[in-house]
Amino acid sequence: MTEPDRTEDVAAHARSRVVDLCRDLVRIESTNPGNGEREAAEHVAGLLTDMGLTPHVSETDKGRTSVVTRVEGADPTRPALLVHGHLDVVPVQAADWTYPPFAGEIHDGMLWGRGCVDMKDMVAMTLSVAEGWHRAGAKPPRDVVLAFTADEEAGGTKGAKDLVENHAGHFEGVTEAVGEVGGFSVTVRDDLRLYLVQTAEKGIEWLRLTARARAGHGSMVHPDNAVTQLATAVSNIGRYDHPVELTPTVQRFLEEITEVLDIPLDPDDADTAVAKLGNISRMVGASLRNTSNPSMLEAGYKVNVIPGVASAQVDCRFLPEHGEELLAKIRELPGPGITVESTHSDIAVETAFEGDIVEAMAAALKTEDPHARTVPYMMSGGTDAKHFSTLGIRCFGFAPLLLPPDLDFSALFHGVDERVPTDALEFGATVFSRFLAST
Ligand SMILES: [Zn+2]
Repeated sequence: MTEPDRTEDVAAHARSRVVDLCRDLVRIESTNPGNGEREAAEHVAGLLTDMGLTPHVSETDKGRTSVVTRVEGADPTRPALLVHGHLDVVPVQAADWTYPPFAGEIHDGMLWGRGCVDMKDMVAMTLSVAEGWHRAGAKPPRDVVLAFTADEEAGGTKGAKDLVENHAGHFEGVTEAVGEVGGFSVTVRDDLRLYLVQTAEKGIEWLRLTARARAGHGSMVHPDNAVTQLATAVSNIGRYDHPVELTPTVQRFLEEITEVLDIPLDPDDADTAVAKLGNISRMVGASLRNTSNPSMLEAGYKVNVIPGVASAQVDCRFLPEHGEELLAKIRELPGPGITVESTHSDIAVETAFEGDIVEAMAAALKTEDPHARTVPYMMSGGTDAKHFSTLGIRCFGFAPLLLPPDLDFSALFHGVDERVPTDALEFGATVFSRFLAST
């Protein structure tokens, strides 16, 4: 006898619960830096316990808490899937908000609050589906590890990185993972929506430039000036036009969008195609090339004193396989006498947009939105995928949301008035339940 198909029951349950689950999470002020994740983690662990699961709670520093559990699949001999979401949110300036950022209020069909898109929405989708499995007596096809992490907003050292380095046993047998940032819709026409699945993210290289020269009186002739040297270096780096380099993810992305927009793909002018994407062009434009943005300057203490030292910090992001090239260029650009040192670096990740898991995403989206077309993209920021990928796991960003065409989605991340349409959450939970039932 085969198992009865509970997919529709799970989908219906997930759909009915996701908004409340997200709202409850938004009301927990898990700011980073700030309150930390413990209260949110305890809340999640309680929900998992109620589902008959065994949550493993781990804490790095006081209040910096992550939760991991494993849902047994119908075929536990198959490689497992990881579903991960971070519990922390970035802080707010509450006075700037239309509605209080930690009240979880619903207005105009939207749930408002910090974390609504980054990323308590996906945490709620995940919980709604797991609860659906429990209620319906259903199992996912294979083991699913659920990880709810601390500290993603500060690089994950006290969350995913700790889990990977000190609790790797939780991820035994995991070959694929889904987390943020992807699965959201970009409306091209009434009858065509692109859903961007993240298959890559850029690497990070934060650099400090230091100029050392002769200190002296501001009234003198003084060509050997650290401030002047640093200014030249900063200007050279900030103005440098990094060449467009298409990784497999971006190549595929551009092929897809130029096809649907019916414009020619000119590899020497990828920016023109990207500019046609409206609100998200800023986000995807950064996936075409390495970037180097000077962001901090430090020098001097009095106007008539020339300091002996001047320094600047530069936020560099590199494409997968292009980290060395970026560093070589940045060492060349400042000119003589400037030292360049790394203050923080992290890897780039990229996986192929292929396999059963990708087909399961596309099919789940298509069931709920007949106008869906699934395309891969590269994110310029970093996520916990950087840490999980070190275990050899293929990482995807997939938190499905059908968004209104005019919503500037990328601006909501860390933005004022972060919010999510409640029907997008319901759509997401439904798609997510179908995806997890078929991968
Ligand atoms: Zn996030």
